[in-house]
Amino acid sequence: MVYLDYNATAKVRPEAAAAVAAALAEGGNPSSIHAAGRTARAKVERARAAVARLVGASATALTFTSGGTEADALAIESAVAAGAARIIVGATEHEAVVETAKASGLLVEDWPVDGLGLADLGWLEARLKDGPRSLVCLMLANNETGVVQPVADAAALVRAADGWLHVDAVQAAGKVAIDFEALGADTLALSAHKLGGPQGVGALIAGPRTVLTRQIHGGGQERGVRSGTENVAGIAGFAAAAAAADLGAMLAQAAWRDAFAERVKAAGASVLGEGAPRLPQTLSFATPGFASEVQVMGLDLAGVMVSAGAACSSGKVRSSRVVEAMGRPDLAPFAIRISGGWASTAEDWARCGEAWAELFARHQARRRQTVEA
Ligand code: PLP
Repeated sequence: MVYLDYNATAKVRPEAAAAVAAALAEGGNPSSIHAAGRTARAKVERARAAVARLVGASATALTFTSGGTEADALAIESAVAAGAARIIVGATEHEAVVETAKASGLLVEDWPVDGLGLADLGWLEARLKDGPRSLVCLMLANNETGVVQPVADAAALVRAADGWLHVDAVQAAGKVAIDFEALGADTLALSAHKLGGPQGVGALIAGPRTVLTRQIHGGGQERGVRSGTENVAGIAGFAAAAAAADLGAMLAQAAWRDAFAERVKAAGASVLGEGAPRLPQTLSFATPGFASEVQVMGLDLAGVMVSAGAACSSGKVRSSRVVEAMGRPDLAPFAIRISGGWASTAEDWARCGEAWAELFARHQARRRQTVEA
């Protein structure tokens, strides 16, 4: 079996699985003052430093959450509580950002992207001039296309307008270098399971301008922001995965990805976001007339796991909102995403390419038969 769906969830790294198992075996509540509690507390604080290091942030800036979705919500709700009167949301943002912004009850404006999926900085500059104090949400890398946004440039514009910038870095972390300070964001969301850690644990990094609002009331854990006994095992697994992140190995995937891309382009496919800065291990492409679900199911039968641009929680494939935002609604029903990760090999990408080519040949033969009949 070939697994090339790391942007949905990465295979768990052995280091992370071992750290989870060790933490579960050791036990202890980090709030207890006895030896077991102190050991668990030390584990959580070491993990905080390790995850913060991955993005060049200080440990004190990091709050653990239940994942990327909660980190996005914590950032957005905190900015709203601090006085944001409008939320500007990149057109290709994840639902975790889009839906939380909508639920805030504030005015939400859609920030357009160009044909490559890059946010239009000129639009933002003009928009920030006339509006109320705004929270701007711009992801670092897109989950479907891998397109990397000009976050530092956006941050300068947002800062000049005295707004807040939230960056969803869930897909970028562990795949490309991230320096929180250099990005200039106020908040940055992370999720363990996209980089080889366990599911159900994430983090929000918050800079000095941000005051996080209490989301869950209770015992006062995570400096009062998020009560509840910490997910010590998950946090330990997150830290192990963050420490094992290997950006060089990710970069190596770009050549395998691009060889695959040449193959599908020769068959008439369009590579989405090609020409924009992209994550090295993500390929999204659309082959007109060749439905996403037919490709995903056909590849699955051939032992290759990939995904359509967007899958909702029901498991159904729906037309890609991201591709539509890029001005290509005609391609949206045909987009699929291949995404490698820490355990992916050149052979995985090559096998996926062969399986896709066979599937495409069968699709064309069926089309010819239909036309002749
Ligand atoms: N943001 C982006 C860009 C994502 O790709 C995802 C996961 O699909 C999330 C947020 C949500 O993260 P989690 O699954 O940890 O809640």
